[in-house]
Amino acid sequence: AKDNLSNEFCYYNSFLDKIAKKAIRLELDIQRAIENNELLLTYQPKVNLQNNKLAGIEGLIRWNHPSYGIVSPGEFIPIAENTKEIIPIGKWVINEGFRQAKEWNKQGVHFKKLALNVSPLQFYTSNFVDFIKEMLDLYQLDPELIELEITESVMNNIGRALDMISQLKAIGITVALDDFGTGFSSLNVLNQLPFDCLKIDKSFVKQVLTDRKTGILTKMIVQMGKELDMELVAEGIESKDQLTFMKQCNCNIGQGYYFSKPLSVKNMEAYLRLQC
Ligand code: C2E
Ligand code: CA
Ligand code: CA
Ligand code: CA
Repeated sequence: AKDNLSNEFCYYNSFLDKIAKKAIRLELDIQRAIENNELLLTYQPKVNLQNNKLAGIEGLIRWNHPSYGIVSPGEFIPIAENTKEIIPIGKWVINEGFRQAKEWNKQGVHFKKLALNVSPLQFYTSNFVDFIKEMLDLYQLDPELIELEITESVMNNIGRALDMISQLKAIGITVALDDFGTGFSSLNVLNQLPFDCLKIDKSFVKQVLTDRKTGILTKMIVQMGKELDMELVAEGIESKDQLTFMKQCNCNIGQGYYFSKPLSVKNMEAYLRLQC
């Protein structure tokens, strides 16, 4: 029995060891990911729930690591936020997303609107708005084609957030509040910040059919958002029944595996060509 225990202990120990080693390795390697060309964007469609037409797309980052293969942002974004490496990575995302948008423009491939995720740290760098302007200029891109998604963790400084969002909207870019419902933000945030779009977190959508309270809350969020003139996006729609529920709530837009997983550039291009 003693042997068994120590075996299990060793196994468990080496398992933790692996995770820790990977985290350390990722933290080190992320510094060279950009120059080594290891980052890429995948794209997921957003669908208009009234007419089933394309409503836009969201760019989602991936890291093609030389030994681990594709690493998901859930694994490396938190690390990059800790080391502040998220700042150059965030810049890379904007540059790459805008470049791709311009490329599709030139090819006559219509994507309606490209949404990109912005980390709070990047959002609050002093020259963020100037950087966005610079990139729009560089690629000669219509600002109406771009949306930025920020999470409510940027809301700890309402005054600053209001200033930033107002500046971005003045340029003609739209701003979405991502992961709505997961944090601690009060309704006050919605009252004070002029978001164009509210993205209902997928943890809600996942439970709309199985948890009565979640269903009620989701309905109310859609109603409230619409009264405040925001677009409503339901994230993480995976089933026909979830889709039907969100439609019944009058939610405008849906996103999720039911429609499509995030796609490579090539596959998104094929998807977009099929849309028109
Ligand atoms: P998010 O912005 O809330 O993105 C939605 C996540 O849900 C994506 O995971 C997407 O692939 C996944 N998803 C989409 N449809 C479904 C579905 O039907 N079911 C389920 N279970 N999941 C679905 P992903 O790509 O792994 O990204 C995770 C998070 O990493 C994102 O959450 C976002 O917070 C962050 N992230 C991704 N790309 C970037 C980026 O370029 N910059 C920053 N700062 N963060 C990013
Ligand atoms: Ca997002
Ligand atoms: Ca989200
Ligand atoms: Ca999220």
